[in-house]
Amino acid sequence: MGKLDGKVALVTGGAHGMGAFEARILAAEGATVVVADMLDDEGAEVASSIGGMYAHLDVSSESDWSRVVDEVTAAHGHVDILVNNAGVVGFTPVATTELSEWNRVIGINLTGVFLGIRAVSATMKEAGGGVIVNISSTAGMMGYSNLSAYVASKWGVRGLTKAAALDLGRDNIRVVSVHPGGIRTPMTAGMEDNGMYDAQPIPRIGEPDEVAKLVLYLVADATYSTGTEFVIDGGATVGQVLTV
Ligand code: NAD
Repeated sequence: MGKLDGKVALVTGGAHGMGAFEARILAAEGATVVVADMLDDEGAEVASSIGGMYAHLDVSSESDWSRVVDEVTAAHGHVDILVNNAGVVGFTPVATTELSEWNRVIGINLTGVFLGIRAVSATMKEAGGGVIVNISSTAGMMGYSNLSAYVASKWGVRGLTKAAALDLGRDNIRVVSVHPGGIRTPMTAGMEDNGMYDAQPIPRIGEPDEVAKLVLYLVADATYSTGTEFVIDGGATVGQVLTV
C-alpha cells in the first residue's frame, strides 16, 4: 500500500529535471500523477512511464490553468496535491534587464504559482483538503548577482506561500515552500563542478531525487506544517566553511 493511494497529484514542469523526479516519486507511492508542461513529447513520455496523464500547460496562462484543472477533474474527480515546480532562470545584471525578460521570469515563476494555487483551491476544498508545494529556491532566502528577476520571483513565491497558507488553512489545505540550492538538472547543466559548492558544509551539487524525497515527505507526512520554508541546499545558506 502506498502513502498516496487514491490521491491525484499535478506536477508542473514535470517533463524533465526535478519535476520528473517529483512526478515519479509521487506515482511510486500510489498517486495518479498529472505531468503538466510545455514540452509535450518529454512530458507525455514521463506520464506514460508512471501510468499518469499528460497535460499541456503554460503556467503563466490563466486559460491554460482552467482548461487543465477541468480536464483533470473530469478524468479523476479532484486534485489533492499540486507541486508548483515549473520555473525558468535568466542571467542578466539588474541595470540591463529588459522589462520583457523581467515579465517573463515573474510571469512563469511567480504569477504561475499564484494561478496554480487559485486554480486548484476550489477542487481541493470540495475534496476535503489538499497540499500545495511551491518550489522556490535559496534565491528566495538570499540574493544572487545577475539574477534580480529570478530572486524577486522566488522571494515572491516564499511570501505568497505564507499568505495562501493563511487563506486556505481552514479548508484543510496546507501550502509550503521548498528552497533548493544547486541541483543537478538541465537548468544547471555545465555548473556541476564550477567550484561554487566547495565552501558548503556538504560540498557537492544536490541530486533531483533528494528534492523529490523532501516533496514526498511534505505531501504525505508533514501534517503539522504549513506556510513555512523547507531548505535543501547542502548548507549553502548557513554560511561558508573557511579554510585557515
Ligand atoms: P529545468 O529547466 O530542468 O525544468 C523546468 C521545467 O519547467 C521544464 O520541464 C520546463 O519545460 C518547464 N517549464 C518552463 N516554463 C514553463 C511554463 N511556462 N509552463 C509550464 N512548464 C514550464 O529546471 P529544474 O532545475 O528542474 O527546476 C525546477 C524548479 O526548481 C524551478 O522552479 C527552479 O527555479 C527551481 N530550482 C532549481 C534549482 C537548480 O539548481 N536546478 C535550484 C533552486 C530552485
